[in-house]
Amino acid sequence: MNHAGEQGTLYVISAPSGAGKTSLVAEMLRQDARLGVSISHTTRPMREGEQDGVNYHFVDRGEFEAMIARGDFLEHADVFGNYYGTSQVWVRETLAKGQDVILEIDWQGAEQVRRLIPECVGIFIVPPSEQILRERLVGRGTDAPEVIERRLAEAEEECRHAIEFDYLVVNDDFEQALSELLCIVRTQRLSMANQRVRHEGLLAELSGRR
Ligand code: 5GP
Repeated sequence: MNHAGEQGTLYVISAPSGAGKTSLVAEMLRQDARLGVSISHTTRPMREGEQDGVNYHFVDRGEFEAMIARGDFLEHADVFGNYYGTSQVWVRETLAKGQDVILEIDWQGAEQVRRLIPECVGIFIVPPSEQILRERLVGRGTDAPEVIERRLAEAEEECRHAIEFDYLVVNDDFEQALSELLCIVRTQRLSMANQRVRHEGLLAELSGRR
């Protein structure tokens, strides 16, 4: 239910490639109807099994650059040589409806969003070890070996920014990590900043102000 004036919370979730972020976020969405995820625009080629408009909005560089020029993006970054960006309008409109929004973006995007929307909640997800990260990247079987090596190097770069986030979740056991993520969302909903808007009438009544 959306109460007048209630803004959704913006969650910025980052992780090194192979931490399991996408599967965890997909399950969060299934289990919590008040969560929505922003579908980014990207110039990277579509992978097998991906769908335009579902995993990403796939566009070419010209189109992406035109969108940058129009100010369509809340944030955008060059990640692994491809552009990725978050739609400004969709995020702002969805938050205004009182719905919580997840952005699955890299540390560069997170930095930009933190500057623009300081009340956003940052969550960083890591695998339990470097060895397991490597196994997960190889196991996925979608990328060439040199791409995997490059992604491991990029993963180190991403992890150097972990401490800039509000929460850290270690994805050792999937169910445990999922429950921790949902716990963060529920805790956030109980914060006074959110609850005082939701229960304005109750607080006024109990304080003898009405
Ligand atoms: P992938 O190509 O494997 O789907 O994603 C590569 C990286 O791009 C991931 O770290 C992912 O979080 C990041 N990414 C995806 N969408 C966005 C976006 O809209 N903005 C930014 N800054 N990074 C994104």
